[in-house]
Amino acid sequence: MQPTCHFTVSFVDPGNHVYDMTLDVTSLAKGQHELTLPVWTPGTYKIKDFSRHLFDLSIEGSRGPVEITHAGKNLWLFETLDDEPLHIHYRIYAFEFGVSTSHLDQTHAYFNGAQLFLLIDDYKDIPYIVTLQKPADWITSTGLDPDHGHPNQYKAPNYDILIDSPFEVGKQSIVSFAVDEKPHQVAVYGHGNEDLPRLRGDLEKIVRTQRQIFGSLPYDHYTFIVHLSDKSTGGLEHLNSTTCGVERFMFRPWKNYKRVLELFAHEFFHLWNVKRIHPDMLGPFDYNREVYTHLLWAMEGFTNYYASLTLKRSGLYSVSDYLSALGKKLQDYERRPGRFVQSLAESSFDTWIKLYQPDEDSINRTISYYLKGDLVGTCLDLEIRRRTGNQFSLDTVLQRLYDRYGQKGIGFPESVYQDTVEEVSNSSFQDFFEKYIYGTEPIPVDEALLAAGLRIDRQYAKPKEDDDFENANSSQTSSIPYPWLGIDTKMADGHKIVITQCYVNGPGASLLNAGDQIIALNGYQVQKPEDLAKRLEYDHQIGDTVTLDLFRQGHLQSISIVLAPKPFDKVKIVAVDNPDTEQRTLFENWLMTPWNAWQNSHEQSSSSPAE
Ligand SMILES: [Zn+2]
Repeated sequence: MQPTCHFTVSFVDPGNHVYDMTLDVTSLAKGQHELTLPVWTPGTYKIKDFSRHLFDLSIEGSRGPVEITHAGKNLWLFETLDDEPLHIHYRIYAFEFGVSTSHLDQTHAYFNGAQLFLLIDDYKDIPYIVTLQKPADWITSTGLDPDHGHPNQYKAPNYDILIDSPFEVGKQSIVSFAVDEKPHQVAVYGHGNEDLPRLRGDLEKIVRTQRQIFGSLPYDHYTFIVHLSDKSTGGLEHLNSTTCGVERFMFRPWKNYKRVLELFAHEFFHLWNVKRIHPDMLGPFDYNREVYTHLLWAMEGFTNYYASLTLKRSGLYSVSDYLSALGKKLQDYERRPGRFVQSLAESSFDTWIKLYQPDEDSINRTISYYLKGDLVGTCLDLEIRRRTGNQFSLDTVLQRLYDRYGQKGIGFPESVYQDTVEEVSNSSFQDFFEKYIYGTEPIPVDEALLAAGLRIDRQYAKPKEDDDFENANSSQTSSIPYPWLGIDTKMADGHKIVITQCYVNGPGASLLNAGDQIIALNGYQVQKPEDLAKRLEYDHQIGDTVTLDLFRQGHLQSISIVLAPKPFDKVKIVAVDNPDTEQRTLFENWLMTPWNAWQNSHEQSSSSPAE
């Protein structure tokens, strides 16, 4: 007989950052049993060993305390002598504020199930009940269904859904809207320059636009948990909820707010792409170890692609907003030497040890599956549209995967992705997958965009002139390269210019080190990274030898470097002259804007939202 499991999560004294947990289990069969706590939480591909925060574990059986053996970092064994009910008690320290972690303080409780809920044996497919014991004036926001008739009680049909439904409990602000008569709640913890009526309206547009692609909303209700704080913490997707961490003053101006909208559009799209459309390794999950897939470029990169596209399709972005976001991504991709070293498939597979554990060399040996996956999605979408005369697109690929797998709650073998693309376009994509997904050849963005009447204009960004008020908002470019040291720097401790990374294709690659503190150029002190850039630009030529004085591990060094040309770092996407009908039709189908309407609005400012 299967047990029933009832968790009580108690935090009546939240200032001590400790969740007091009890798990009441009925009729656990006689014999040996195990308790485990996940070592990671889906969506964040990093081993986090949540059990490091667990303490005071005890089990009470019908005859008294039950002996427990701690048999592994996240594993405990115990034995029952009879079919007996159990009362399991433990505590969890929670003081890590982030979307994929758990936090408890005087202002709120936020928790992800992977950090709190122990699993007995492999009873994943039984229903779970969760009761909250909380401060009386705190309210609860979660994707879980309330257990009607029982205040502060929620129910999950199985362990996976329990783990997949974070809770925000506190004094959060609530706004809501309905789409298809389904309630959508936006629960906002913290304050800044938020504009909740505007956010509610924009989220509704995002929901309606993405719903269009798949035809319906596959849930009864949806919860957006929003954390406003002094640092951005990204987002985490769930079946019918998401948590998004946003810097508290990101709601103005428009260039900042765009990033907020991109985040929400990304996380919401995940409810289909990755939560329902996913390779078989990504659900049901093994919570005790890493799970490996080569397809994160499709799960994350394509979700990024659809985030921007959603904002365009919903009218939140103008064509200029969309193309400038695309140009920025292309610029980030092209400046990474790592794109010639790591393929997208490898980037996905190695996410546990590379993307989630970056260091000063990452730029040289790795490529992000978010970034390159997004651009590959752009190329793939445009190529499917081109080959099928705008009859089909990447939408069609996702719709078919959703109908065949997502709707049925099953994952697919990895080869299905290419097969589906080929089926939709009725032609081979072998070469495309070999070069751009399993290989490291530069992705064919120029060619893809040309098919839509667009051209990529590669330029060099001028160092910012902080005293140039007249041009404060213009990002100046040049078609002539600037002298370059091949390094990125940051200000540390308020006054030190410290090298953060050295580019393998730069002149400083084998002369300078990450961590070096630059103090002077040709004997004269430099105070800020911008000053270094300006002095190189104004006073030097490519080919000049300069001397850098620096501290390396506290040891003063003088190093001579021959300046090299800076690679392209300002990418603009513009219309080609005289596009033919085919190019214009592809553009219009893709961005859902008539070519002439875009061209006529072209001179107008792109710095205000198209609402
Ligand atoms: Zn994502």
